[in-house]
Parts: sequence; C-alpha cells; structure tokens
Amino acid sequence: MTVVAVVGAQWGDEGKGKIVEAIAPKAALVVSYAGGYSPGSTLVVEGERFVLHVVPAGALRSGRACLLAQGMALDPRLVLDELAILEQHGALAAPLEIDQRAQVVLPHHVLLDALRDESEGASGSPRRGVGPAYMDAVARRGVRMGDLLTGDGLAQRIEASIEASAHALRELGGEVPDPKAVHDEYVAAGEKLRARIVDGSRRITDLTAEGGTVVLEGPFGTMVDVTHGYYPFVVGSSTVAGGACVGTGISPRSVDKVIGVAKAYITRPGLGPLPSEVTGDLATHLQDRGGELSPTSARPRRCGMFDVPVLRYAARVNGFDEVALTKLDVLTGLDEIPVCVGYELDGDVRDEPPFEGQSRMQPLTEMLAGWRESLADCRTYAELPANARAYVEFIERNAGVHITRIGVGPDRAQTITR
Ligand code: GDP
Repeated sequence: MTVVAVVGAQWGDEGKGKIVEAIAPKAALVVSYAGGYSPGSTLVVEGERFVLHVVPAGALRSGRACLLAQGMALDPRLVLDELAILEQHGALAAPLEIDQRAQVVLPHHVLLDALRDESEGASGSPRRGVGPAYMDAVARRGVRMGDLLTGDGLAQRIEASIEASAHALRELGGEVPDPKAVHDEYVAAGEKLRARIVDGSRRITDLTAEGGTVVLEGPFGTMVDVTHGYYPFVVGSSTVAGGACVGTGISPRSVDKVIGVAKAYITRPGLGPLPSEVTGDLATHLQDRGGELSPTSARPRRCGMFDVPVLRYAARVNGFDEVALTKLDVLTGLDEIPVCVGYELDGDVRDEPPFEGQSRMQPLTEMLAGWRESLADCRTYAELPANARAYVEFIERNAGVHITRIGVGPDRAQTITR
C-alpha cells in the first residue's frame, strides 16, 4: 500500500500536474484534496495541450481513476462541462468520482466572488465561487454533493445560503438568484453525476487495503494555505500535506510519502507579499520563457528569484521526502541567476518566511552562474550543464531538501529522474 501526497511548495502553478503524471503510472487513483477551481492545470500530451480547471491531470492517463475529494468545493455545472470536453477528446479513459461530502458551489457564490473581487480591486482570483462556498461550509449552511441526490433539507439549505448573501449581492449591484430555479438546476446536475458521487474516504481506504497506490494532489501551494500561507493573502482551504488527510478522510499515518513541487524561480498570482520579487529584464525573461501569464487577466504573473526560505519552510511544514524542481529550462540564457537565501527583517536575519513584518523584509541575495545551453533534450542529470547542476545542488544544500526530479520542458518526457 502506498499513498503519495504531491504538494506545491510555493504559490501554486509549480507544475504539479506534470509531476503527478510522472508518478501516476504506478497509481490506481489520483485524488484532488482541496480547492475547486485551479487557474488551469495544463497537460501536454504528444504536443496537444489540455487545460483542466477541476479534473486532475491524472485523468488523462489511461486506467488512472480520479477522485474529487471531500475537501473540495465544486460547481457541478463546471464538472459536467469539463467531463463533456474530456469525453469529446476521448481523454477520459478512467472513472472520475466525486466525494459525497464535497461542498457545492452555488450560482450566488460565483456572483458574490466576482462582485467582491471587482469592488476590492481585482486580486486575480478566478471568481468561481470557491471562497464563498467554503464560507458557507463553516457557517454550517453549505450544500454537499450528496445532498443533491438525497434532497434532504436541500431546498431549505439553498434558500438559507442565498438569503445569507442577498444583502451583500444587492449592495454590490448583483441580482439575487431564485432559490427554486437553483434547486431544480442543481438537482438535475446531481442526477447527471449520480453514478459518480461516492464515499471517497472509504474508496481510498479500500483501494490501499487491496495494495493500490493513491496519489493525493494538492491545490495551489503552501504559501497560500489558509493557515500556513501569508495570511490574509491565502485561499479558503488547506493546501499543505496535512490538508490531504482532512480533505480526503484518511489517517495521517496512511500517507507514506510527501513530494514537494517547486519551480526553479518564483511566481505569484494576485496580491500579497513576494519578498524575492524581481522587475526589469529578469522578470521579462521569466515571464516570456516561462509562459507566466495569468489566465484570468492575461497579464504577466509577478515573478521572483528562487526563494530558499520558502522551500525550507514548505519542506518543514509538509515534511517533504523529496522535491521536484520544475522549469529549470526557463533559466537558460541568463548570465547569472540571483537566489534569495534569507530575509533581513528589522536588523534580524530570517531563514523562513516570518509571521510578521512581511512588508518590511528585504531579501538577502546570492548570485549563481548561469548557462546558455538548452536543457530541452537532457534526459539524465549528468547531461545538464555544470552550472545548472550547481544551481540544483545549491538549492538542495541551502533548503535542506532532496531534489529527485527536474523539469526541463513542458512535455511529459521532459522530466529528469535523479
Ligand atoms: P500546477 O498548477 O502546479 O498543476 O501547474 P501546471 O501543471 O498547470 O503547470 C504549469 C505550466 O508549467 C504548464 O503550462 C506546464 O506545461 C508547464 N511546465 C511544467 N513543468 C515544466 C517544465 O519543467 N518546463 C517548462 N518549460 N514548463 C513546464
């Protein structure tokens, strides 16, 4: 029995999809344990690009079943749309199931998300209602996927949820949806999903008891975890490895391995602290070569030099057994590469992201030598240029992690296993 958690070490978009793919051949089940809408998990299969917002990339591997677990907040309309696209491409080769305890995103959650984000100055949130659905969950008026099937108290719960948001919706100039229409639409969506709605916690336990391997894929990254990230610039769920147990309903003792995924530089969607942020030519290089565009605004993502304290912190909080370093190829062509090795905050040196004073901290930088050779065709560690290996080993040494996989391009084959 093996349960492997794959967790973002930074702010998300680290390339987890490809790493899950790299380990998925051994997996009977790929599970998403939190979140409900990613800006787009891109997977390139033999030159063809797929962008998935809800369904985990592992679904594209034939024979790998997927589970959207109970820690998620899902819009069933979106799930149905994505399933239809996958079926059309013949890419849904394995079953996709949804936990009965997953929260349901209702239309007014989506509306509220968009209106709030607009009025608060466009944070870069995808505005898909996931945050408001989590708010209703902790306020104990959330609707769960299984409720769409049983119907027990469903109409009242939908009404209460809409009622609780009605004032804010009107204030922000939005229309309040009709509870009856929402009820009917969601019952119909639930009916279409009926065969897929299961007890996910039980499913994982049974599968592992039979000897199957399960991959638990985290959303976003450690630095936007609702508790462990740079609060309040965080998402509504627990993205860290501990969240994998809460979000799936399995024991912490059943997670055998935790793999962290870190990009060879930093990107951060939206607002909030980014101590290693870079501007000018280096930012342009990373944005252009790394394809770092925000899918919601099509604006370049904020970029930063590699942040060692963030990886050191993520490794400690998540307990990484191994780290996959992705997008190393993006650094090709730089004469020298700055790396953030610590922060100075009010005269002290910090080796992990501090709880306080985030707007005052200054990065401490070391310069490493760059390389000009393309990494695209490197398939072994030894084939990497000496300075690229030195970069990997510098990160490894300074963050105290073991880097076992290195991404040298977007294609499935472009991952070096060390
Ligand atoms: P996730 O949000 O962490 O799951 O990130 P994705 O799996 O969506 O990956 C983000 C983007 O990085 C996608 O366009 C991937 O194709 C791309 N990508 C992943 N690994 C690499 C890599 O090693 N090199 C390059 N150049 N692109 C990569």
